[in-house]
Parts: sequence; structure tokens; C-alpha cells
Amino acid sequence: MDATILASLGLLDCVVFKRVCAQKYSVLYNVASWLDELLPETINADIFEFAQNSLYLDDFLLDAENLYQSEQEGRVESGLWSEQLPTQILRLEASAIVSEGQCYLVVQKVNAEYLQKQQTLQLAREMLLSSDKVAAQHAYLHARLDDLLSEPQDNAFMHRPVVQALEQTELGVVILDAGMNLVSSNPAMLALFSDVDIKLDLPPYKLILNLFAAQYPESERVFATNSTWTGEIYWLNPPKHGKWLKLSIHPIKNQHQQLVNWLFTISDTTQIKYLLKRNEKLTHFDALTELPNRHFFWSQLENKIQLNRPFYLLYIDIKQFKRVNELYGHLVGDELIKELSKRLSTITAIGDVIARIGGTEFAVIMQLNHLHSQISNEDQSHCMHFANSLIDACHTPFYLPSGKKCEIGLNIGASAFPKDADSAEELMKFADLATFSAKKKPISNLQFYSKKLVDASRKRIELEEALRFAITDNQFELFLQPIIDLSSGDIIEAEALIRWHHPQGHIVGPDEFIPLAEQTGLIIPIGKWVISQACILLKQFNKLGTDIKLSINVSPRQVSDRHLFEFIRSHLEKENIAPQQLVLELTEGVLIDNYDMVYYLLNEVRKLGMSVSIDDFGTGYSSLAYLQKLPIDHLKIDRSFIKELTQTSHESNSALILAIIAMAHSLKLEVIAEGVETMLQKDFLQANNCNIVQGFLFSHPLPFADFCDLLTSTNKLKH
Ligand code: C2E
Ligand code: CA
Ligand code: CA
Repeated sequence: MDATILASLGLLDCVVFKRVCAQKYSVLYNVASWLDELLPETINADIFEFAQNSLYLDDFLLDAENLYQSEQEGRVESGLWSEQLPTQILRLEASAIVSEGQCYLVVQKVNAEYLQKQQTLQLAREMLLSSDKVAAQHAYLHARLDDLLSEPQDNAFMHRPVVQALEQTELGVVILDAGMNLVSSNPAMLALFSDVDIKLDLPPYKLILNLFAAQYPESERVFATNSTWTGEIYWLNPPKHGKWLKLSIHPIKNQHQQLVNWLFTISDTTQIKYLLKRNEKLTHFDALTELPNRHFFWSQLENKIQLNRPFYLLYIDIKQFKRVNELYGHLVGDELIKELSKRLSTITAIGDVIARIGGTEFAVIMQLNHLHSQISNEDQSHCMHFANSLIDACHTPFYLPSGKKCEIGLNIGASAFPKDADSAEELMKFADLATFSAKKKPISNLQFYSKKLVDASRKRIELEEALRFAITDNQFELFLQPIIDLSSGDIIEAEALIRWHHPQGHIVGPDEFIPLAEQTGLIIPIGKWVISQACILLKQFNKLGTDIKLSINVSPRQVSDRHLFEFIRSHLEKENIAPQQLVLELTEGVLIDNYDMVYYLLNEVRKLGMSVSIDDFGTGYSSLAYLQKLPIDHLKIDRSFIKELTQTSHESNSALILAIIAMAHSLKLEVIAEGVETMLQKDFLQANNCNIVQGFLFSHPLPFADFCDLLTSTNKLKH
């Protein structure tokens, strides 16, 4: 059929390429007006190679090549993607096809389908609101309020969209201020308690607070640490039937990460419960995993205490479960929990009790094999050994029935009877506290409850408070460390490294507070301060007549902040700084954990003219595939590798550095060596073509004025 007929019928706005041999293609036919603009390498070429003008297409070609090489009839689709051309925005879809022994690649413009998909997406979003998927509703509402409140507006609750959302949702919503006073509640909340016979002698929100405190020992910790919590509470309501209520508690923080409100969402799950209860077994067992449920576990715990024999209580929480839910949805989340419960159950011994006590939480009573009432060191190592087997059981990825692959870790907290406490309530509370502390570590781990742990947790809260104050009180300063080009001897760049002038007079280094800031979300306001301060310093540099570059460290949490790029862009504009002067440093881990966000962010960054360095290179995942796909300019070899370069160091150390240099150069990336402290290291690097260096050999990080002096004397600036 004539291609123009296809086009005029609106059937095809496409290009068909024929694969001649590996990587070489010819244009078979082309009715697309956009091809020349998108892939100029095809213009007037009989046979051509793709010249990396579309990163997405390049990526897809890797999959396509697998199909081509299999030489089996078939087809793979790329999925939709977008290309911004100077004159238009293209929504494209590619297919690789093997047919009758020939290999084809079709790229089709699908703007109309894209629009339709977007509309479906919009519909789906609206459906979410009206759907009875309670979990999704809770999460949706939290996210929506968080989003609205992360924007710097006062009194955001008064905003129309929020008020509307609250009035219309079927969830009961209560908003309290930081001091637990009622700010607002919605009609659905009142409806939950509006049965005619019910006479409440206290306001519904107080009732809920009381029930939570009475039924969950962790309630205190949730409020003290501004944590999120989800679970079910039971309201005995004689003489009528009681009610089961699903409760989610969510702290709302402002842009300075200060707690401003508590958001409670509540829904009535009584009916679901009664449906489940029809099956006798389900009153004591969890429907999904068939393990004992929280109530059954609690009675077992009390029995064990009665017996007065020592045991450990382990509280197990799944690391990063939220991500699984976000990525694949609740159904896959359920599959994972089911599989996990099987793995954990096989490790518990006869006599131990394992239960699912919350959405993502399990608990185990681990028996000890002796009768005396004290816990010994040997018991503790026994418990450690047991916890490690639980953790090890999760090391192999989970291949779920839906075909998804998930990798998770465990946070385990343990309290001991009778050493730590002798009531079920305290044992649970302490084990929960220990789990909370295990959560702080990036990898699976076990924490025992101890008094020290409570003190450490208090200390963290104090440090968090002090940091929060430091932001508003302007206690931070950016020190600058020169980055030098050995071939010219000039300082070509500076890395901005944050310092905290503690009110007690000493300077605190970032290693002591950035990790906490990262965990608590304070990194967002701190990161914003760094960006705006970096722009101010760049402006001062420009006034001094130097267009030196400044690099800033961007941490993982910042990358997930949708407003990051716009924030940087507007500050550059405000201070009238050329984007070419700003460099962002990201670690490898960030690239991989947040690939989609990073892909978007770095492309925007590149379009604007900023550049990107991969920090601490070699210490992370080192997935070379990412280096190729993302717009990256420099690799910074981690200082641990440079440190190994000593007079007596083994050849394998230098071999690693040489390999990184060679690889970076072949990917056309510049290499910066960090942590250069000795002449020997400098000479080695210089001799091996790594000319850009940073380290104490040249200078420690300096305050701005001192850095300017160094810059002037080194680069002989003309004023
Ligand atoms: P980094 O990004 O790897 O920064 C380089 C660190 O190496 C700095 O430590 C610097 O003082 C130190 N260093 C430089 N040359 C040498 C040397 O020759 N020998 C040795 N032993 N060390 C050297 P600093 O300033 O304590 O910063 C530590 C880390 O804190 C940084 O590691 C970075 O990850 C983080 N950080 C610093 N400032 C910021 C910031 O503004 N935002 C964020 N998100 N993180 C920051
Ligand atoms: Ca850095
Ligand atoms: Ca580094």
C-alpha cells in the first residue's frame, strides 16, 4: 500500500528502518515529517548508525538487538516516550520486528494515543478517590495534603482544594495541631459515630486517641518521633456491636520539616471483619498469611509471661515495603507478604510463636531452652543467630506469582523477658522502639532494646531540633575546596562543603548531621539553603572577575523532590548566574535507586547547561550501563582508592584506578581524583592521564574569603 495513503488515513505517521547488520540500518520508508529533525544521521544516508540522538531509542535498541539476534519471528514494543524537538513535542513508540528472516524497526508518532492514555490515567486517578480500596484512599489523601503543604503557603488548610477533598472523601479525617488540639474534622468522620443510640461522652477524635493509646504500646513512640502509623483499632460499644476502624496516622510537616499537624484518616472496616469472622479460623488468624494475628499473639505473649520462663520478643518490620507498594501496587505487596511469611515461618523452631501483627509487621516469641529466669550472653547470641537467619532468608530475591521480582530487607528489634520488662505491653513497646532504631540503618539489622538505645533516640531528637533551628538561625556556612587542573596548575572549580557553626562554638562537619537530615527530611530545606548560598557565592565570584565553577552535593532525598530542578533554575536566574557554572554531584546509589527521577532531572539539568559529576565513584553499585545512558560529565574517583596509593601499596590498587580512568575516558567522561594527599599520589595520577585533582595536598576546604585569596594567588587573577 502507498505510504501516503496510510498517512492520509491517519494510520501511520511512521518510519520503518530495515536492519542491515548489527547496528547498521537503512530507511525503508518514511512518511514522517519529524525524522530529519529527530535523527539527522538518517538524512541522505543509504546506511547509517544511530548517533545517540534519542537516549530512549538507544536504550530500546539494546532490547531490539536481543530479538534480532535470536532470529526468531516476533516483535517487541518500546512503550511510549517523548522527545522535545525545537518545533514540537513528539510522543513516540517503537517496535522491533523480525519477519520472514528480516529485521525491522518501526518508529511511530502516537500523539493521539498518548493523549488518550493521559485521559485514561486521569480517569483512573479520579476513580481512586471513589473506589473502596481503603488503603489507596488513605495514602492518596496523605500524599495530596503533603504535596499542598510542602509549598510555602501559610495556613494551607484553608485552601479550597483541601477543604473540598476533605468534604468529599468517604474517609473520616481529623486534623490536629502539633499540640493535639482539634483543627478540623470532616462529615465522614462524624458519620462514623452518628448511630442514633450512641452517646459519646467525649469528642470522636479523643476517643480515637484513647483507643490507639490503649491498644497499641507503640503509640507513645509514634507521637514522640513524628512517625507514620497504620493499623486497626477496635471500639467496644456496648450494648451494640463494636466497630473495627482502620486508622492511619500521618505527621504533616511544613517546608522547614517542622511538625505542624497530625492527620488521622479513619474508615470503618467492621463489615470486612465480620465477613472474615464467619470463618472461625480467621478470628485468630490473619487471612492473607494464615499466621496468628495480633490478638492471638497478644494472648500467647501473656501466657508465656505467666509461665515465667525467659524468652525474646522479636518485632520485625519490612524495609522499604512502601516502595514495593508504590512501584507495583497493593496486590503485589500482598503477594510479597505471603511469601515472606512462608520463609520466616520455616525458620522458627517448634514452640516459638510467629504472628502477623500489622500490615507489614511480624512478631516472634523466641523460646529459650532453659528454665532459669535470667537471660545470659549465650541467650543473646542465640537470639542474634536466629535474627540473622531471618535476615538471610530474605537475601534471595522474591519471585512472586505475578511475575514481579522484589528484594527487601528486615528491621528487627528485640526485647527480653524478664530482663527488659515483665508485661506484654512494655515488651512490645520496647521491641518496637528497637525496631525503630534498626530502621535507621540502610541494611537489614537487629537491634536489642537497651536504656542506651532510648538515650540515643532522645539524643537524635535533640539533634534534629537543633538542626531545625540551625536552618532558620543561619548557622550554616559553605566551605570551598579547590579542584585543580594539573596541566595548567589552575583552580578550575570549587566543591561546596557544608559546615555547621554549632551554638556551643564548635564547627560540626557534614558527616555528623547530613545522614540524620537525610532520614528526617531536613535535607530538603538544608539542600535548598546550599543551592541558594552557592548561587550567592557564584555571584560574588563573578563580581571578582572569575567564572569558576562550583559543585554542590545533592543527596538522594533531594532528587526525589519534584521541585528541585525548578528551585535551582530560579535561583540561578535570580542571581544572574550562567548555569554552566554550577555542577551537581550525585552518588552512584542515587542514580540507581531513583533512576526515573534522575533520568528526567539530569536531562533537564543538561538542557539548561549545568553539568553533573558522579561522586564517590567505585564505592556504590558501579553499574556501567547507567553511566552510558545518563547525561554525565565527570566521575570523581572515591578517595578510598586514592588513599591506597602508597609507596608500599600493591599493584592491584593502582590497577583499579587505571581501569576507572580508562573506562571514564572511553565513555568521554572527565575524571577527578578526590582525596589527593601526597606527591606520590599526584605524580601517579598525572602520569596516568588523570589531571583533575582535589585534596588536602592542595588545600583543605576553606571559608569563602580564604578561598578567594588562594584563587587569586594560584590563578593570578586580573582584577
Ligand atoms: P564528599 O562529597 O565526598 O566530599 C569530600 C569530602 O572529602 C569532604 O569532607 C572533604 O573535606 C574531604 N576531603 C577532601 N580532600 C581530602 C583529602 O585529601 N583527604 C581526606 N581524608 N579527606 C578529604 P566533608 O566536608 O567532611 O564532607 C563529607 C561529606 O558530607 C561529603 O563527602 C558529602 O557527601 C557530604 N556533604 C558535604 N556538604 C554537603 C552538602 O552541602 N549537601 C549534602 N547533601 N552533602 C554534603
Ligand atoms: Ca562531593
Ligand atoms: Ca566524594
